[in-house]
Amino acid sequence: MDGVAPDGDICQVVLHGEFTATGNRKARYAVSLTEEDLTVQRITSSAPAGRSGGKVVLGLKDCVGCRSYRGGGGGTADAGAYFSAYFYPLRRRWMNSAVSRQRVEQCFCVSSVQDERLNLEEAEKWARAIRERSARQKHLRDGVASSEVRWPCRMMLMVNPQSGRGQALTLYNSHIQRMLNDAGVLHTLVITERRNHARDLVREADLSKWDALVIMSGDGLLFEVINGLLERGDWEEAIRTPLGILPGGSGNALAASIHHYSGAPPLASEELLLSCGFLLCKGLVSPMDLLSVHLPSGPRLFSFLSLAWGFVADVDVESEKYRHVGAARFTVGTLVRLASLRIYRGKLAYLPAAQNIKSDREGDGGRSATNAAKSRRNRRPQSPCPGNLPCPNAAQHSLHNSCNSNNSLKASRREVTPLQRVDRAPTGPPDSLLPPLDQPVPGDWVVVAEEDFVLMLAMYQSHLAEDLLAAPQSTLDDGLIHLFYVRAGISRAALLRLFLAMEKGAHLATNCQHLVYTRVRALRLEPRSPKGVITVDGEVLEYGPVQAQVHAGLARLITG
Ligand code: ADP
Ligand code: MG
Repeated sequence: MDGVAPDGDICQVVLHGEFTATGNRKARYAVSLTEEDLTVQRITSSAPAGRSGGKVVLGLKDCVGCRSYRGGGGGTADAGAYFSAYFYPLRRRWMNSAVSRQRVEQCFCVSSVQDERLNLEEAEKWARAIRERSARQKHLRDGVASSEVRWPCRMMLMVNPQSGRGQALTLYNSHIQRMLNDAGVLHTLVITERRNHARDLVREADLSKWDALVIMSGDGLLFEVINGLLERGDWEEAIRTPLGILPGGSGNALAASIHHYSGAPPLASEELLLSCGFLLCKGLVSPMDLLSVHLPSGPRLFSFLSLAWGFVADVDVESEKYRHVGAARFTVGTLVRLASLRIYRGKLAYLPAAQNIKSDREGDGGRSATNAAKSRRNRRPQSPCPGNLPCPNAAQHSLHNSCNSNNSLKASRREVTPLQRVDRAPTGPPDSLLPPLDQPVPGDWVVVAEEDFVLMLAMYQSHLAEDLLAAPQSTLDDGLIHLFYVRAGISRAALLRLFLAMEKGAHLATNCQHLVYTRVRALRLEPRSPKGVITVDGEVLEYGPVQAQVHAGLARLITG
């Protein structure tokens, strides 16, 4: 028997059966499974036909899980067994609205014989076949097999109850808990109690107990997790732990970037959350670039999203007070700051990306950081940063335990200020491209003459906020810093036009004379204005000279 795939190909039916619906034993359905779809056709007249004529075709690429279970609960003489498949297809909610993921559950009762065991075997056969085929579908992305999280996945899910409008926990309860259960993801919920709780937690955690570390918050909580991992003695292994992000804050730029990379049209708020939840359940892992950022006071930190100075950083910080409006806080903040536009004097220098991009590519997706470090040591003067300690701890994770209880996860460490290192051996990969901050940049760098700026924005993912596609050409691990700066002299109207165009990623097409865009691998900023704000990933840095370089693919992110 054959089915017809959406692209017109004929697909072989691998399983076919007739089952009753749960809750209505009179309604019978013919169910067919191909490599790509599950087709459900009503075959009795007692169930309402609806607009679809009683036929539903669900793509297995939209399926997150399927399970079988016995009936007969509550002492009834039910010999039937059940299987339920969970789909999150893209649907339009109402006319003209964007397509977003919506949950569809298909549940059937297998009761062909009176033997409960045989019925359960049949239900399990279906559940397994659906799971296997939906797993196969996800590997076909771009025809390239991707890596994926270990299965069954034991996930630590850290939720910041204060992020955004303070709704992250409510959103977890209303959307994410059920979705993870549908997908069979074992997860332990950790509710952060303070700033740096997550950072301290992952710095000390036994990572062999976790297959993925996921945050549900804004970008700030992932910043904590990444820095916590890179502060560990076993940083080289720790930073390979698959990370995930669910948008629950007001600054959900990485979540918007992941959604964008999936090729889907833009979404915001709960629709973006459902999309990211779906991608998380798919469990495909991709390398992600990180930036190592140096400050004059010594401590180094790691960033996954953006480094900003001037207008963008000001908006980020000043819009904190509009947090109650959620992601719209940036729009409000932009308008307020436009009204009193500031100019900053400073010096910018960068290493253009065109040079040696291949031979100098860092870390090989984090897989050969030690080799890369060796070859870099031969090639360039020794890095000024103290972080050249390859980790001896490459032990395999042990995999016997299931999830910890929440209690054992409560951190009780001393609070550290956000960007300050506790006193311990330096960790993280060496920065071969950066001279000490107090020495001149190498000759192959471009130095922008000291001048007046409105903003400097370095992006290494596509989105600056849910609705700001700041670096449309960025990909997760292109090994590039997409550097933008806007020179003083731009009018308020032109700057507003830039930000409006950025919603569609069209700001470069405005041909604004004051906007410069270039791709770089390292940069240095020396602000000369006495006051100002510099942010990384939306978090405030100490104000002063700063330099950074990209480490291609150092982290691993669940992207679906
Ligand atoms: P948002 O996008 O809404 O700003 P973030 O995830 O960026 O959300 O979090 C904002 C800040 O809150 C971050 O600096 C993070 O370190 C901090 N934080 C995390 N957990 C807590 C908590 N329980 N209470 C207060 N602040 C927290
Ligand atoms: Mg990038």
